[in-house]
Amino acid sequence: MALSIGIVGLPNVGKSTTFNALTKTQSAQAANYPFCTIEPNKAIVEVPDSRLNELSKIVKPERVLHSQVEFVDIAGLVRGASKGEGLGNQFLANIKEADAILHIVRCFEDSDITHVENRINPIADIEIIELELILADIASLNKRIEKLTRESKAQKGALKSLEIAQALLAHLESSAPASSFENRDNEEFLTLDKELRFLSNKRVIYGANVDESTLAEDNDFIKQVREYGAKRGCEVIKLCAKIEEEMVGLSDEERAEFLRELTGNKSAESGLEQIIRTGFHTLGLISYFTAGVKEVRAWTIKNGAKAPQAAGVIHKDFEKGFIRAETISYGDFIKYGGEAKAKEAGAMRSEGKEYVVQDGDVMHFRFNV
Ligand code: GDP
Repeated sequence: MALSIGIVGLPNVGKSTTFNALTKTQSAQAANYPFCTIEPNKAIVEVPDSRLNELSKIVKPERVLHSQVEFVDIAGLVRGASKGEGLGNQFLANIKEADAILHIVRCFEDSDITHVENRINPIADIEIIELELILADIASLNKRIEKLTRESKAQKGALKSLEIAQALLAHLESSAPASSFENRDNEEFLTLDKELRFLSNKRVIYGANVDESTLAEDNDFIKQVREYGAKRGCEVIKLCAKIEEEMVGLSDEERAEFLRELTGNKSAESGLEQIIRTGFHTLGLISYFTAGVKEVRAWTIKNGAKAPQAAGVIHKDFEKGFIRAETISYGDFIKYGGEAKAKEAGAMRSEGKEYVVQDGDVMHFRFNV
């Protein structure tokens, strides 16, 4: 199953606008991906990767396919969701399915658009949502603690889990997220997290939604979010959701010109592109490439995957019958101007089953079935 990023945030902060921009992007790209199904609450979009352009200049393929990443719209998280307020528990269950979170935060002022809490205060908004996630984790952990308490009377193993669960409960009860729990590397914690999928342990990216006038220079709201993100070790991306939606239909050149006018920066990347790229890396994913005249293509793997697993992304038979992988690093492929010349220069390596695939490797698999 593909990894996905759940979009959360209070009402009226710009979630739907952001999600619409992603959905429109998906529709604009859909012709390239006939094998992807379109679902109303999901947007599967290309990960921008300039390396594909560089490879294409050399290989001149018929088509180019990017890695993709999936976003899921999780509407309506409000204060009290963990007690069933708003759309409550159902939405918390949807977040559980997501592998990382894109938290949209309102950093724009507009008296016509109500803020649910009647004031613009991005940090207070973030804390409302994060507290709901912690409360939901406390509820599921409490149930597990009851079960572990019963089990620990009969099995010794359960006692260790119970101790960790209790320490985690104390941590969550101090309003701290599971992501800052000191025993996160502990085996018992990892098992609990795998089973309960703690919401407050997911990696978070903050999408600070600003007015177009703020794209050129940060306002105080976004400065606060940046500071908060830095403290938490989370990425903060500034975007104007409204503008992102408007930009979807534009060509690359038009978009670059439009962004240059808005930001004063010649090489500005759109907020949406940054969100997609950052989202991909936050999920722990990387791309390797295949480069043939029919297609130049990025394939998505988990960072740390070995060559046979990487081959399995193309076809299960490639994994089963894996023999070796002829590999050229992206840098060498560009430096020598393609496969033949890289091979001549001795830059093509023959890698075996234990090889850990690197981001940007250009690969050919040898296999038999
Ligand atoms: P959601 O409830 O979080 O999904 O929020 P929406 O995406 O529906 O946005 C709520 C309202 O805010 C809509 O009327 C949007 O057009 C508006 N909005 C979204 N982004 C911006 C922005 O950057 N500036 C301004 N002024 N309005 C925005």
